[in-house]
Amino acid sequence: MDPTPAQSRRLHCSRCGAEYDVVISRTVCDCGSPLDLVSDLQPLPPSLAGRPFGLARYADAIALTPRALERTYLGAGMTPILPMGGGTFVKCDFISPTGSFKDRGAAAVTAAAIELGAVEVVVDSSGNAAAALAAHAAHVGLRTTVVVPQGAPEAKLAQAQAYGAAIVSAPGPRERAAEIALELSGRAGCYYASHAFSPFFLEGTKSWAFEVFEQLGAIPEAVLMPVGNGSLLLGVFAGFSHLVATGAARRLPRLVAVQSRNCAPLAGLPAHLTGHSLYTDGIAISRPVRMRSILDAIAATGGEVLVVSDAEVQEARLSLASAGLWVEPTAAAAWAGLPHLRGDRGPVVVNLGGAGFKRP
Ligand SMILES: [Zn+2]
Repeated sequence: MDPTPAQSRRLHCSRCGAEYDVVISRTVCDCGSPLDLVSDLQPLPPSLAGRPFGLARYADAIALTPRALERTYLGAGMTPILPMGGGTFVKCDFISPTGSFKDRGAAAVTAAAIELGAVEVVVDSSGNAAAALAAHAAHVGLRTTVVVPQGAPEAKLAQAQAYGAAIVSAPGPRERAAEIALELSGRAGCYYASHAFSPFFLEGTKSWAFEVFEQLGAIPEAVLMPVGNGSLLLGVFAGFSHLVATGAARRLPRLVAVQSRNCAPLAGLPAHLTGHSLYTDGIAISRPVRMRSILDAIAATGGEVLVVSDAEVQEARLSLASAGLWVEPTAAAAWAGLPHLRGDRGPVVVNLGGAGFKRP
């Protein structure tokens, strides 16, 4: 497997069509939109025997060098997939170095930061993304600054701090934290490693699709996951799309996004509570920056958006725990969505993306 040549990567704006080189200072399009990554990727080989675990296992299909991916490897990926009966599986992404699926993306953005020559990463997050980034950056000796919006859950913040992240508080609305993070990322040697804006985060979450295909030996009928900013769903869509484009698979699974009734912009429902009071805090995103792409991906796969109540999430969390699976409320939302799923023709995979200790 050859290293991915950095010069084959470009940043593309799907809104205005602008293209940019991949450089440390290019975070968003001049029109204000998030950027997508365009790159020449190879098919995965028919057998992955002997490959390392983690993102480097699928390096042919990820626009980062195997060398950088191996450096940032902290144990993310190759999480267990468990049969739950009736053709349903759970993908246990809560069994991950920092306790959430965000480790997949954090390993990738940290690899990108290394390739781009960064000495520091900055992110605006109140939760799992901050902890995941801080851990991976610490592992390779990069400094981390986390800009924290009001009302951030303390357990998650404490975790990021334990890994050595510097914390900057952002008063006011959630958007203010992103503005401050963007300002800070203007410092020399600083990379804006946002899970919402950096397209490299999605290079990491692609690995979820490759793993499920490898573990099941087939494309599932549907996959369910909670969606806030869509950083898992968009990576999963890109991963399965790569498998189809390279002839490894013949079809895409239906992508099913689960949101809370309190904050379900994908279903057209307005957020009528403030983020920090929400039970499912990890998906309390009233305006996802890649909303158009999320809705397009769901439509392209014949998927759907399911909306669940806090009571349903609470019940799902207890039900999972009674089967030995302790996850945070945001993760349990996916399980709560399962009874609402239409059709039952084949294997369904439900992602459990955050550990119970995140929200005891
Ligand atoms: Zn643009």
